Amino acid sequence: MPLVSMRQLLDEAAKGGYGVGAFNVNDMEQIQAIMEAAKQTNSPVIIQASRGARAFAQDNYLYHLMLAAAELYPEIPLAMHLDHGNSFETCKSAIELGFTSVMMDGSLKADGKTPATFEENVAVTKQVVDFAHERGITVEGEIGVLGGIEDGHGAGGTGLEHVTDPDQAVEFAEKTGVDALAIAIGTSHGAYKFSKKPDGSVLKMDILIAIHKRLPKTHLVMHGSSSVPKDLQDIINQYGGKLKETWGVPVEEIQLGIRNGVRKVNVDTDNRLAITGAIRKVLWETPEKFDPRDYLKPAREAMQKVVAQRMTQFGQAGHAGDYKALSIAEIAKGYKDGSLSTKPLVADK
Ligand SMILES: [Zn+2]
Repeated sequence: MPLVSMRQLLDEAAKGGYGVGAFNVNDMEQIQAIMEAAKQTNSPVIIQASRGARAFAQDNYLYHLMLAAAELYPEIPLAMHLDHGNSFETCKSAIELGFTSVMMDGSLKADGKTPATFEENVAVTKQVVDFAHERGITVEGEIGVLGGIEDGHGAGGTGLEHVTDPDQAVEFAEKTGVDALAIAIGTSHGAYKFSKKPDGSVLKMDILIAIHKRLPKTHLVMHGSSSVPKDLQDIINQYGGKLKETWGVPVEEIQLGIRNGVRKVNVDTDNRLAITGAIRKVLWETPEKFDPRDYLKPAREAMQKVVAQRMTQFGQAGHAGDYKALSIAEIAKGYKDGSLSTKPLVADK
């Protein structure tokens, strides 16, 4: 199966009432871990690469690894998504390379750090939507500003400084026509999300629920949604690591989100932790080893385990064979004739 449209994956997820994990990759082993987990759980899947990943791996390596994944697992619907595009040019180059979905994060200026105005965000996102939809490519936008910094991208802070305003979210979706919308509800990027177990004072699930009621056709996206489980932190620290105690987003909160319109759940940190813990364990217990396969294989297995667990928790497990993937050309036709419109319907309010 060729790489498929993320829009179709999310529409199917909405129909089935589940969420789809979007896992970040930088190299072959991470792609392999995700695809094996998808096969193991029979899940459709989104694999995403940030600007940092594209720079690390180089576009052509990354793209051809993704094509290999699609070739090796023809039964798995697989979308390739750009995470946090910072400008029209970045999104355009991803689309021209072969990504089937892009995120235009216009919540920040092109420096990836400074919050942008609402008008700037609408203008650049709309420009990307026009370019992408004409080619059958999905677009995720962002309204409100997430906390934390990852891969040099982010405004920093706790994530509560720029929580999404539901009125703005509706206006943004209407003006841009994005397929998916990342909202800021107190989550942040990276491992150090919360200094205590998060509750209603830090995770604004009520805002998410309010936005979904008013934008039932726009797929909501939760960023910074690693759970940062204690057992993964412990393995790292047990074998010489020095992580400070930290809390992520509890899986139950993500599942509450999924019951209220969240269709894409971004997970990166948990996989980083799993990989690092597995590598540390091998090197600590058998310091005489020097063949990279001796630690990359357990690292890959550790990541596969986390991904498979998330796929099951998000509900996408078992759904890989539910539908026939449409071609990107067919998706482009749907955008053109209006059948894929996400414009909010007054009747749905
Ligand atoms: Zn993000």
